[in-house]
Amino acid sequence: MATKSALVTGASRGIGRGIAIELARTGCRVAINYAGNLDAAQKALALVKTAGGDGFVVQGDVAVAVDRERLVRETVARFGRIDLLVNNAGVAPKVRADVLEAGEESFDRLFAINLKGPYFLSQLVARQMLQQERDGEGFRGRIVNITSISVYTASINRGDYCMVKAGLAMMTKLFADRLANDGINVYEIRPGVIATDMTGGVKEKYDKLILEQGITPIRRWGKPEDIGRAVRAISEDRFPFSTGAVFDVDGGFHLHRL
Ligand code: NAP
Repeated sequence: MATKSALVTGASRGIGRGIAIELARTGCRVAINYAGNLDAAQKALALVKTAGGDGFVVQGDVAVAVDRERLVRETVARFGRIDLLVNNAGVAPKVRADVLEAGEESFDRLFAINLKGPYFLSQLVARQMLQQERDGEGFRGRIVNITSISVYTASINRGDYCMVKAGLAMMTKLFADRLANDGINVYEIRPGVIATDMTGGVKEKYDKLILEQGITPIRRWGKPEDIGRAVRAISEDRFPFSTGAVFDVDGGFHLHRL
């Protein structure tokens, strides 16, 4: 089997970087997408190479159509194919605001980056994967969407974030159903609280919840590599008879406890 090629959005930092590194451990080539932080993207590329993979960095805002087209075009130009798309790039609201106060600007920003972006990028990549299949490369594509426990957890001070993640969960089902017969499996990975820049601002709050109050049965913060290892298992085709499946990588947060 030829070396696998992946496109990971938002791979310059945090969870996306952790995913890129874990994929690199299998020798994968990774297109490391970033929005604005070139230094971080180059650091991620260096770590990918140290881990045994290869790749390149590619700037692009997933909310912008011409950028999405360029991401796919450049990845195919470099690698000749895309075996795996990881829709990871995402943002939290700049300011947390009660659902009775929250504004449209934040709503539009989150919907554009966290939902519209993955939806139309998946569309482009799926077409590319179908083309590869038609070219007779014995190909099986994979798409992974990084959602959140916010899919089903109401946080009244970031309703926009919860709604886009719930939408992304439905998007997984739609693409899974549409592409199943073409040998392209689609998965949702649902991270819990992971230590990244995104959660840096609420570290103290979550330290208390996790370490003191045990909000997660496994009493530790999640790490980007926890998510990376789940994506790696998918990339290694460990779940060929599963599609549309949800993987909770959350320290057991989703358990209802009494
Ligand atoms: P992070 O540390 O803030 O990193 C965000 C990444 O996304 C960066 O690589 C950033 O690029 C990129 N990005 C932001 N806007 C983009 C855009 N418009 N187009 C392309 N790339 C963009 O975030 P994270 O914590 O790793 O989160 C990654 C994903 O996991 C998100 O979808 C998030 O919702 C989800 N998640 C996170 C947690 C958590 O606890 N951290 C939990 C559940 C789910 P630059 O470096 O160029 O800015």
